[in-house]
Amino acid sequence: MSDEDFEEGDYQNSVETDLSKVKDMPEVPKTKKKQRVLNGVKVWDRDPKTAQRAIKKAHSLCEFDSSHTTFVSNASKKNYVEAHHLIPMKFQNDFTNSIDTESNILALCPNCHRMIHLARPKEKKELLKSFYEQRKDNLSNLDINFTLSDLNGFYGLK
Ligand SMILES: [Zn+2]
Ligand SMILES: [Zn+2]
Repeated sequence: MSDEDFEEGDYQNSVETDLSKVKDMPEVPKTKKKQRVLNGVKVWDRDPKTAQRAIKKAHSLCEFDSSHTTFVSNASKKNYVEAHHLIPMKFQNDFTNSIDTESNILALCPNCHRMIHLARPKEKKELLKSFYEQRKDNLSNLDINFTLSDLNGFYGLK
């Protein structure tokens, strides 16, 4: 776990909310925030509201496979999914604009979420390729440009 951008429980819990009260807003490029020091470790703040909008956009369905149902969350009243940053936040310094943005956040069922962090390289690469194709144009519109090979590199894959 540690520095693996493992979105910790506190963050996932803060994302859980009544989605009917989350307002849709157009996604615009944001300037990256400053790093904060938490227990001696530099971290990038993530805004739960951004993840809430991303999950709402995904209709609370797993974006790898929308047939992956979980359970109805008491807070959101929707299928429970978690927020995962496709480009891990620890690579924020490689980009000028904030990567804590809707197009960089995937709604994933807990199983797929663990997979993207913990699966064998071959399976991780399949997930990453599919999400790269889904998101690269939206991210490029926000001036967040990267190749599939960069993305594999962010996950320690060749
Ligand atoms: Zn994650
Ligand atoms: Zn899934």
